[in-house]
Amino acid sequence: MASSGVRNGGPRMSAKPDRQGAGATPKAAAGKQRLSSAAGAYRRTSSGPLPAAGVRASSDGVSSRVRVAVRLRPRNAEELAADADFGDCVELQPELKRLKLRKNNWELETYEFDEVLTEFSSQKRVYEVVAKPVVESVMEGYNGTVMAYGQTGTGKTFTLGRLGEEDTAARGIMVRAMEDILADISPETDSVSVSYLQLYMEMIQDLLDPVNDNIAIVEDPRTGDVSLPGATVVEVRDQKSFVDLLRVGEAHRVAANTKLNTESSRSHAILMVNVRRSVKGRSEMDVSISGENGHSSSMMGSLRPPIIRKSKLVVVDLAGSERIDKSGSEGHTLEEAKSINLSLSALGKCINALAENSPHVPVRDSKLTRLLKDSFGGTARTSLVVTIGPSPKHRGETTSTIMFGQRAMKVENMVKLKEEFDYKSLCRRLDIELDKLIAENERQRKYFDDEVERIRAEAQCHIAEAERECKITLENEKMKYHKEYLDSIKVLEEKWKTHQQPPKRQIKEAESTSSDVGEAHNLLQNEKMLRQSAEDEASDLKNQITHWKKLEATATAEVVKLRKMLDTEASQKEKLEEEIGVLRSQLLQMSMEADETRRTLDKGDGPGKIFPGLDSLASQTRSSQPREQSNGPKQPIAKLSEQVGLQKILSLLESEEPDVRVHAVKVVANLAAEEANQEKIVEAGGLTSLFVLLRSSEDETIRRVAAGAIANLAMNETNQDLIMAQGGVTLLSMTASDAEDPQTLRMIAGAIANLCGNDKLQTRLRGEGGIKALLGMVRCGHPDVLAQVARGIANFAKCESRAATQGNKVGKSLLIDDGALPWIVKNANNEAAPIRRHIELALCHLAQHEVNLKDIISEGALWELVRISRDCSREDIRNLAYRTLTSSPTLQAEMRRLGIKM
Ligand code: ADP
Ligand code: MG
Repeated sequence: MASSGVRNGGPRMSAKPDRQGAGATPKAAAGKQRLSSAAGAYRRTSSGPLPAAGVRASSDGVSSRVRVAVRLRPRNAEELAADADFGDCVELQPELKRLKLRKNNWELETYEFDEVLTEFSSQKRVYEVVAKPVVESVMEGYNGTVMAYGQTGTGKTFTLGRLGEEDTAARGIMVRAMEDILADISPETDSVSVSYLQLYMEMIQDLLDPVNDNIAIVEDPRTGDVSLPGATVVEVRDQKSFVDLLRVGEAHRVAANTKLNTESSRSHAILMVNVRRSVKGRSEMDVSISGENGHSSSMMGSLRPPIIRKSKLVVVDLAGSERIDKSGSEGHTLEEAKSINLSLSALGKCINALAENSPHVPVRDSKLTRLLKDSFGGTARTSLVVTIGPSPKHRGETTSTIMFGQRAMKVENMVKLKEEFDYKSLCRRLDIELDKLIAENERQRKYFDDEVERIRAEAQCHIAEAERECKITLENEKMKYHKEYLDSIKVLEEKWKTHQQPPKRQIKEAESTSSDVGEAHNLLQNEKMLRQSAEDEASDLKNQITHWKKLEATATAEVVKLRKMLDTEASQKEKLEEEIGVLRSQLLQMSMEADETRRTLDKGDGPGKIFPGLDSLASQTRSSQPREQSNGPKQPIAKLSEQVGLQKILSLLESEEPDVRVHAVKVVANLAAEEANQEKIVEAGGLTSLFVLLRSSEDETIRRVAAGAIANLAMNETNQDLIMAQGGVTLLSMTASDAEDPQTLRMIAGAIANLCGNDKLQTRLRGEGGIKALLGMVRCGHPDVLAQVARGIANFAKCESRAATQGNKVGKSLLIDDGALPWIVKNANNEAAPIRRHIELALCHLAQHEVNLKDIISEGALWELVRISRDCSREDIRNLAYRTLTSSPTLQAEMRRLGIKM
């Protein structure tokens, strides 16, 4: 290899000077001003995780190569003396970070290191270049390793372990590192503890407690972290106590080595500094972020476990790297020598494997490699200082040291933040919080109870006070009223006395005056009342006048109207009379012609019409035909009968000719209307003929006119007996049940009604179904028929009443027996006056007798009686009803029950 060739640590090694020092921390160094400023030219200037040369980020951590510095010891006295004539075997180019190793007079090997520290390098500078970045890294939460490797006597211990008690500038890395650590931690939240150990012949001895000389290495199966739980851990609070610890440890080391008959250079000294820091800033930041997102509350913040970083700085002063056989003078057996060097050679093998990226790194081969598992190929930031001497005498050792350093430079670590949640402290904090809350709760409850008690007491006080006040007030009031009462009694007594005393005159005057006043007052009052009643009366009279005036006006109008109607009626009557006169003369004319014709017929002349135009006389059959007519001049029909002969007319009733029969019956009917003719017609057998016609004729006109004739005949008392005797009632009843023509029915009803007025015929009439026939005819509903029915009932009732009054009749009315009462009640207030009047009369007659009252009341006729007594337009009926109602105790009682007042 050409002498000008540069051998370096490997392909990852930067050719440019790395001013950031060995192992730049990937993390920001803000807030590290104190440490950093002390770093002078090596202070890191970057503010972010800038991967420095040879530092690469990965998902698992940040790649960081093992940084290696080489330190050359100045010639010692011996070397100065022995090698005075020889040049050094090494030549340093610190500005180029190069070391040239003279192999012989003509061969130079050049090596590049991360730092090249000359024999003049101060301890401070060495610390800053080699250890300070690692210490900073540890303070940020990464594990760190600072290790010295080299031949015995080249200054490993000088570099790492000098205490510098006499000369501050001589202080080694351990002391300086602790100084920086202690300066940077917060005593309230952070802690630093140390263990100091020695590894010799694969035995770990506690330098702080040398009796403990076989400490086991324990590996966390989960994280792979190694620890020495058996080692003494001393918490370091100040620099002095640390230096004392180091001194004690060094003393123990010397003592132990003496005891073991060895040299300290054969053992590895290991200082473990555990730094525990809580990360407040991070925790607060997290809280504020979650708060911004709105997913967290302040409570969440307090529940968030604090973050702590537990990092470890391991400072290893390795045993001398020279081969043991060289030290044969020490009297070790080969096996012993192997054992003594086992750890160091294992370390070399591991570094070789790591440098060559070998898949297998024999970490488990020795205790040293197990302890340094994290330092090489692990997560720690590692800085190695290789110490060499200048003497060419030890060129071989120097070379091998340099080669170790070169290989170590190739080892890549993945630095990882040693950060975890401090659940224990969270738990502790929550416990404290809980205790606080419990205590607070207890206090509050007590306070609350006290408060309730206080309020209750206060309220009771208030109540008592109020009661007391109330009592006093009541007492006062009582006394006041009592006093007033006594006073008023006194006043009254005095008044009484005064009244007793005045002279009689005064009393009299007073009395008379007061009585005058009283009288006047009474008079005035009377006057007032009289005036009021006079005024009332006057206004009453005024009202009455107005009312009467109105009535007068109405009556006048009514009179005018009636007069007009009367005039119209009169003129109509005149007209009708004229017409009747004309008709009568015509009839007379025709009768004579008929007589003439009949005579001709008797003589054998052919058939012809008889009584033409007789129809116009139908109206003459009315039972209401004015009787006074009979007193007047002889009627044309009477004349006709005289002229024609009654017998002849009656014989025509049996004529074969229907027309003749019709006319004949009409003539007979007309004759029957005349009272004077009635007996003659019956004597001449007319009644029998009429019965025959009624019974046998199919012709409605004949039946109607025949019935009318019978009705007229029935007006006569003698005839009534005859009609009865000849079974006329039965015949009339039969005809009534067959007939449909209202006028026929009217005639039959009229006939029966006339019979009803005969006192002697009552029982027979009823026995032959007369009353039933009457009531049966109401089915046709014609007012003329109903009027006749009502008349019949009224007649019957009147006769019955008369008979009962005379003692000739006992028992209930036959009308009631035959079921007439419902119809009577129904039609008692019929709008047709003829019907209404007759029924009202009938009802009054029926009510005269106690025997009928039960039925009358049960049929509701009492109401009608009351109405009649009040409203009936005929005074006699009204009075009759009134008398009936007032005189009957039964009706009176019923009226009282119904609440009817007369
Ligand atoms: P090692 O620990 O490697 O066996 P030491 O640190 O014991 O070597 O050093 C051996 C001797 O060399 C000691 O007397 C020490 O004072 C001295 N020495 C080592 N390095 C230096 C240095 N850089 N400057 C001055 N003296 C040194
Ligand atoms: Mg030493």
